[in-house]
Amino acid sequence: MDNIRSIAIPPLTDDLVRVLIDAETIQRRVAELAQQINKDYADITEPLILVGVLKGSFIYLADLSRKLTVPHVIDFIAVSSYGKGTVSSGNVRLLMDTRENLEHHHVLIVEDILDSGYTLDYLVRYFKARGTKSVQTTVLLEKPDRHVVPVDLAYVGFTIPDVWVVGYGLDYAEKYRTLPYIAELKPQV
Ligand code: 5GP
Ligand code: MG
Repeated sequence: MDNIRSIAIPPLTDDLVRVLIDAETIQRRVAELAQQINKDYADITEPLILVGVLKGSFIYLADLSRKLTVPHVIDFIAVSSYGKGTVSSGNVRLLMDTRENLEHHHVLIVEDILDSGYTLDYLVRYFKARGTKSVQTTVLLEKPDRHVVPVDLAYVGFTIPDVWVVGYGLDYAEKYRTLPYIAELKPQV
């Protein structure tokens, strides 16, 4: 059994402290969130537009969208508020806009993690200003200790402590995105 596990699950490297949320727990929670979203949007007349915030949300968006039964369209947006490291700033920049016309559509922003809240606060206001029917947000993770601006979160996967996490789409300097679990990075890295 130990043998099988070590083949199936990539082991922690020296940069990682511990697995915070294992792959199975993530999958179970994503299924629950999808179920809730299916219920909440059951009566929509236009497809729901899922806007994934690149790059960190791409795996969460892929798993979530495949569990949706409500009609939906996938789109992406790219913003930047961080450099290569882990220092936050309130300075959000639009790097790449969505492709879809969002007017008269319900939009669900799909984000990897809510930290200070600057990114989602910016995006919610940006999408509301574009004639959308509604704008809601889902985050896989949130760090309550780090919030600076309040953001209304409709669907939250997990609440986590104030540590830098990687895996399941999240990176540190472009590493660790494809780990199937969420792991804590060593503070000194
Ligand atoms: P906020 O604008 O809420 O401060 O930050 C949101 C963005 O910061 C997230 O979309 C994510 O890209 C990045 N971020 C915040 N905390 C973490 C973390 O622990 N790990 C990783 N990989 N990214 C994080
Ligand atoms: Mg992000």
